Amino acid sequence: MSTRYRFAPSPTGYLHVGNARLALINWLSAKKDGGEMILRLDDTDEDRSTEAYAAAIQEDLKWLGLDWSELKKQSERSEAYRRAFETLKAAGRLYPCYETGEELDYKRKRRLARKLPPVYDRAALELTEADKAKLEAEGRKPHWRFKLDQVVIRWEDMVRGSVEVDGASMSDPVLIRSDGRPLYHMPSVVDDIDFAITHVIRGEDHVSNTALHIQIFEALGASVPTFGHIPLLMGPDGGPLSKREGSQSLRELRANGIEAMAVDSLLARLGTSENVEICHSLEEIVAGFDIHHFSRAAAKFDPAELANLNAKLLHQLDWAEVKDRLAIPGADETFWNAVRGNLTKLDDAKDWWQVVRGPMTPVVENADFLRAAAEQLPDGEITPESWKAWTTAVKETTGAKGKALFMPLRLALTGRPHGPEMNNLLPLIGRENILARLTGRAG
Ligand code: GLU
Repeated sequence: MSTRYRFAPSPTGYLHVGNARLALINWLSAKKDGGEMILRLDDTDEDRSTEAYAAAIQEDLKWLGLDWSELKKQSERSEAYRRAFETLKAAGRLYPCYETGEELDYKRKRRLARKLPPVYDRAALELTEADKAKLEAEGRKPHWRFKLDQVVIRWEDMVRGSVEVDGASMSDPVLIRSDGRPLYHMPSVVDDIDFAITHVIRGEDHVSNTALHIQIFEALGASVPTFGHIPLLMGPDGGPLSKREGSQSLRELRANGIEAMAVDSLLARLGTSENVEICHSLEEIVAGFDIHHFSRAAAKFDPAELANLNAKLLHQLDWAEVKDRLAIPGADETFWNAVRGNLTKLDDAKDWWQVVRGPMTPVVENADFLRAAAEQLPDGEITPESWKAWTTAVKETTGAKGKALFMPLRLALTGRPHGPEMNNLLPLIGRENILARLTGRAG
């Protein structure tokens, strides 16, 4: 049987690194098995879900290189949820409750004060038909709780191994609110059943939900998928991801010049027993991917590590991999090979193009020295070998050596103290501009 995974974001904001990691892990798992991943938009919260976020999520996933075999929206599935509600009710697994939020809060505090776990006391199960009729006559509308079997719920988790949760330690979850809207649990399970999901990989914040969901799957007569819970991402100091790091949306990263493959390479390996490696394609990541390599410990996400990886990736990229994205008319492979080692983001290449093509303003500290140097510029075509021949001649005539020889030339020719190897830049700048810049003219 072919495997089916799903990524189920709520379109109430932009995807950030934490979401992207789960999307990627689901996608990689699907590819590894030769299965598929669907995209499910959990858009039942009408107040917070927007079409714009739904579109942005799809755009960001595509940017990462991820695709999905089907797109499903929970907002279009109310009929399926209504049917499941009827099934569960008929099976005696749903019961109406009438407590207000304040009443529940009060009960919770009283239990805590008595050192009891703050679980729901199932008082509503004791209500008689007459009690319910009276409450409804007062204008109270019921919310509906799922009656958990108070047994130990077990599953073999792809990441956590054997997991056991005691059903008796949990509150019966509310599945339907008093306004009739289903909360997250039931739609999620109904969708996983109807969309034939075989594997559910999500954050470890869902572990206790999974225990509930297993009972809902069973109550609906469905087989239970395989689960995997990925530990959450932490900040570089081991604390929760701060706004600055964790809320980095994929669009911010993209706007800051981070390459999608740097994000993919990092997120596929963070929190695993394997070292992070720079990959140039998702196929390469799939080949080295194994969900079982994820550890149970929280992973640290460090924006500095991502920036570093991004730079290293750029330094390795071949011309063929970037030429369509570079968007610098006239730039060629020689230029790319000369400058790629100095980029921290792809856009930096534009600055170097400006440096080689000009016009740029040379930095001139010693005009006499530069005039003497200009006279030594080798005749004929400027090639990568010209720099060595030229500087040897300049050294012989002026006596300058080391930094005193190279720095004034670099400053005059590029306007900056650091940059790509001069032997590679020289042919790109060309004789005319070299001579202009050595005499202090913008060229
Ligand atoms: N929309 C839910 C979330 O983002 C989906 C959780 C799940 O994967 O079931 O937390």
